[in-house]
Amino acid sequence: MSNLTDISYVKGVLSKHGFTFSKALGQNFLINPGVCPRMAQLSGASSSVGVVEIGPGAGVLTSELAKVSYKVVAVELDKRLLPVLKETLAEHDNIKVVNADAMKLDLKQLMADEFNGGEAVVCANLPYYITSPVIMRILEERLPIDSLTVMVQKEAADRICAVPGTRESGAISAAVHYYSKPEFLFKVSKGSFLPPPKVDSAVIRLNILKNPPVQVNNEKMFFKTVKAAFSQRRKTLPNSLSSGLSLPKQQVIGVLDTAAIPLNARAEEMTMEQFACLSNVLSEKLS
Ligand code: SAM
Repeated sequence: MSNLTDISYVKGVLSKHGFTFSKALGQNFLINPGVCPRMAQLSGASSSVGVVEIGPGAGVLTSELAKVSYKVVAVELDKRLLPVLKETLAEHDNIKVVNADAMKLDLKQLMADEFNGGEAVVCANLPYYITSPVIMRILEERLPIDSLTVMVQKEAADRICAVPGTRESGAISAAVHYYSKPEFLFKVSKGSFLPPPKVDSAVIRLNILKNPPVQVNNEKMFFKTVKAAFSQRRKTLPNSLSSGLSLPKQQVIGVLDTAAIPLNARAEEMTMEQFACLSNVLSEKLS
């Protein structure tokens, strides 16, 4: 029987298949036996809730997910891991491995095909080079999921979970808070991975909201405004918005006045409500 919590077993299978880690694919595999069961338990997967995993690697988290969920669909880009996964996951009959790029695959279609409209969640130890694009893609496409439980670099976790309007917040905080309520679950030290990365990680859960927390008339303008405001986060809004949105400074000042936002405010001081109001005024004035 495969024991994926035993590091020497996992190392043995990887070396048997001549596997070498690819830095470019963000391959840092979990070897701390305590992390995956905890992540799987907190993911919301269950006997009636399916799960999509992105990047199963050697299958350590995948097998824990298969113990709590009725079905796991794991999307792995690296072909070299397919024979490894076949061996490590052999004892589970509720896992489907799909060899594809999670950034290109039609995830909505995949979920419709595999879960037939049933409840599902996403759970993954994300490759760090696509952390934000994958999260944003899943949120923007409004995948039919209840939550997204992901391991990301600790710094990214702090930024994502930071409440807009606080010092730690960034463009990603506002974008994520538009679609979900993020929760910081637990920290994972760099020594929990093979090979160990340079920084610690953390597991966060994004609980998907049924409706956005603020009323936005033009979503495209909302995200454009947030991005422009944070493009030069140390500058005040008249400067960052005028350069980020290619608008004359005087026009930006007029918009900020209408939205009742102080002219000396910076992006990190902006709440979700203020960003919504600002983008609503902008879309009205620019249309
Ligand atoms: N889940 C495993 C674990 O926790 O040990 C591996 C996590 S490792 C950080 C990231 C995994 O994502 C690797 O297996 C890597 O090959 C895979 N990956 C990288 N880019 C991907 C992409 N665009 N689509 C799908 N999988 C990808």
